Amino acid sequence: MADSDTSALRRLPAVATVLAAPEAAALLEAHGRVATTEAIRGALDAARSALRGGATTAVEPADIVHEARQRLDAQPAALRPVFNLTGTVLHTNLGRALLAEAAIDAAVDAMRHPVALEFDLDEGGRGERDDHVRDLLRELTGAEDATVVNNNAAAVLLCLNTFALGRGAVISRGELIEIGGAFRMPDIMARAGADMVEVGTTNRTHAADYRHAIDAHTGLVMKVHTSNYRIQGFTAEVDARELVAIANAGGVPLLNDLGSGSLVDLSAYGVAREATVRQAVQEGAHLVTFSGDKLLGGPQAGFIVGTRESIGAINRNPLKRALRVDKIRLAAIEATLRLYRDPDRLGERLPTLRFLGRTRDAISAQAHRLREGVAACIGNAFGVDVGECASQVGSGALPLDTLPSAALMIRPHGSQRTLEALATAWRALPRPVIGRITEGALQLDLRCLDEADEPAFLANLAAGNA
Ligand SMILES: *Cc1c(COP(=O)(O)O)cnc(C)c1O
Repeated sequence: MADSDTSALRRLPAVATVLAAPEAAALLEAHGRVATTEAIRGALDAARSALRGGATTAVEPADIVHEARQRLDAQPAALRPVFNLTGTVLHTNLGRALLAEAAIDAAVDAMRHPVALEFDLDEGGRGERDDHVRDLLRELTGAEDATVVNNNAAAVLLCLNTFALGRGAVISRGELIEIGGAFRMPDIMARAGADMVEVGTTNRTHAADYRHAIDAHTGLVMKVHTSNYRIQGFTAEVDARELVAIANAGGVPLLNDLGSGSLVDLSAYGVAREATVRQAVQEGAHLVTFSGDKLLGGPQAGFIVGTRESIGAINRNPLKRALRVDKIRLAAIEATLRLYRDPDRLGERLPTLRFLGRTRDAISAQAHRLREGVAACIGNAFGVDVGECASQVGSGALPLDTLPSAALMIRPHGSQRTLEALATAWRALPRPVIGRITEGALQLDLRCLDEADEPAFLANLAAGNA
């Protein structure tokens, strides 16, 4: 080791000296003593290794503080916001539905203040957690009673466990779904303690198949919305109304798992018409389950609506306590459901419906507006064009229906590897930009970029160049 290096090593300040340097004051203020000390230690270790390796590096306290600051700043929150330009509106890996402002405000209030979660303000005594959303759900679905749990997977689990523990759960072979995140109907039935009784075939199941399967051992009949796939061609299924009659004849409830489930007709938002929860209730199912954060546009939740008797049994199941939702989400759920009382303005207020309802023309105009600004941020190794693309609803909802959309298509003039590098760099931005690489281009579908966010989007891209 050269003399100059050993002397530099000797000049490395002590941790306490760096902490006492005037430059460290702001760091201590922002991050606290523990994190700042840790970062300074890391910076000193790095400087020591560099010097031992023969490199020259600055060793004044101010230099070490500078390095420590970079280390602290390089730890952004793991759950920080991203730009979802994948074209999938309800992207499960990006957190599905964005909440309406009213729901955000309600959640913030519930975090900041005590709330009458299980307190009856009229009587001054103990109240019920479900009361806050029960009446709204009854009003919006026409069901006699309702309850809410952690997510729809929990709703299905709870229904099966309540009515088919140690008994048979009758289901068509065409409806044994798997959805993302390892939710597989046979496994859920097993964990709920139900004996799965498969009827029919993959493509065709008839009323007689159900009738023959129901016996004294049967606990419930189940119908499952095949959310994320379609069986086409030579097919037959038994509709819910007929299944209700079959279940009634057997003296057991029918559980209809709608998956996404919607409280309003979505055809006005460019989405294919699907049965609403109200229709499923009208068909007579004893229990109907659906998600809070799919097409409904609220926080993660699982709703169970149905007859007073069935919901009563659900509420008496000790598992219900383990699957309940917290005050923050309950506040957001209540606020989201309230918006459904004014369906005419849902399209502006619920981000999910606002995004779904955007036309290709509007998105294309936005792409033209942003094209130059984006091109300026990425330099001349790439070309940026406006192209047509197809968005998806996502979360397994309506898998075959796409929405005509528009995108910025970024193509490298040279090697494809530069495209991968760009996608990687954009995932490391202060607010990561998530697009989709397809057909040799990085495709940024702008469906989920609100107009008000355009300046922030460009500023964020520009920050990547700094
Ligand atoms: C999405 C879905 C579920 C699970 O709902 P989560 O809210 O994601 O737990 C259950 N059943 C069907 C048919 C679904 O589409």
